[in-house]
Amino acid sequence: MDSHSVLDYQSPVSRKSSPHSGIIMTVLAASLMGNAYFLFERQNWIPSDKAAVASEQQVVSAQVQETESKSIDLDRSSSKPSMEKKEAVAPAPAKAPKKAVSVSASTAQKVKEDFKVQRASFVAPEEFPGREIQTLHFSVKKSLTHTLCRVMSDPECKLMSAYMSRILMWRMDVSRHLRKGDRVSLVYERLPDEQEMRILRLEFESGYLKEKLVANYYQAPGAAHGTFYDDSGKEWALRLKEQRSPIRHYSEITSLPGDYREGGFSGHSGTDFKTNVGTPIHATFEARVSRVNWNRGNNGMCVELTHPAQGVRTLYLHLNKVHVKAGQYVKAGDIIGEAGNTGHSFAPHLHYEMRSLKNKNKILNPFKTRLHPTYRKTVKDKAGFKTSARRYASILHNSLS
Ligand SMILES: [Zn+2]
Repeated sequence: MDSHSVLDYQSPVSRKSSPHSGIIMTVLAASLMGNAYFLFERQNWIPSDKAAVASEQQVVSAQVQETESKSIDLDRSSSKPSMEKKEAVAPAPAKAPKKAVSVSASTAQKVKEDFKVQRASFVAPEEFPGREIQTLHFSVKKSLTHTLCRVMSDPECKLMSAYMSRILMWRMDVSRHLRKGDRVSLVYERLPDEQEMRILRLEFESGYLKEKLVANYYQAPGAAHGTFYDDSGKEWALRLKEQRSPIRHYSEITSLPGDYREGGFSGHSGTDFKTNVGTPIHATFEARVSRVNWNRGNNGMCVELTHPAQGVRTLYLHLNKVHVKAGQYVKAGDIIGEAGNTGHSFAPHLHYEMRSLKNKNKILNPFKTRLHPTYRKTVKDKAGFKTSARRYASILHNSLS
């Protein structure tokens, strides 16, 4: 797929305010992204969950012109919904894995017909000893968070919604392109030691894209971290070509510059790369260092570079160390600092931002500008990946039949 076509954002986007201000706007944008922003960029306030969900429902339902009543068909056909729900929200078992919950034939049939919310747990001890693998099937109503919070506990549902949004953001603008009736099938696992979940396979039938998207998690033997691939083994997310990338080692891109101007607010101004403290940060183009460490409360240690040849400025926030001084000249690829967790940041990450020199409010999406060539990696261990993807696909499909 053409690297400039996969991201469905309007780019460049405009912002009238500084990178991390605009509280009201951010509340709305963040709730639309399934609270994804809160993972890494701490705001000066703690939003009420209820308010965030309410605004999400309002905005998203307005966008999809939701006309149905508020009730949701939650597993009506299941003979034991409460039990399944209870199991769903129970903490990860410390002892022996539980017996698989079986889905009765009539229930499965009904689910197949209606694709209402349905949930089942599976344990496959021979292949996944000690792991709690679960599946989830549902049709979207109103929003991901809204739908998920009917079948999962809070905040688990919000974490899952944010997680799904981080995957889907590479193919669509979740806040605008979600359609009522979009079908989601998930196989995921609860990680026992961390209070986290990992999606192993996501199937998403998008009414907007008129396409079924499939993302498979895979961690190759010896790889530092796993990532998502489509069924053909192409990495799900784009990468910036290394010689023009601000960072070469990261586990995940957790946020892209978003355009949420509908409704009068704008979104996140940069790209967030989840990484370890100390990871080298590179100048993306030849530049003059225009300033360092301004607004440290929000930005932490930070660098701004001016690139007259490209007509842009680039910003690198939340650093652990800064290796350059204002006024200094740097070449493309020079190390200007190291990644950190300073300022309003929840976890070590690099916030990389690109703004037009002519118009400081014009924000560019690095994955959509010609200045940054992009590519997709192909999985190295193809055989291992295929086996893993096939296994998760069969778990998912068996849970419906
Ligand atoms: Zn950021």
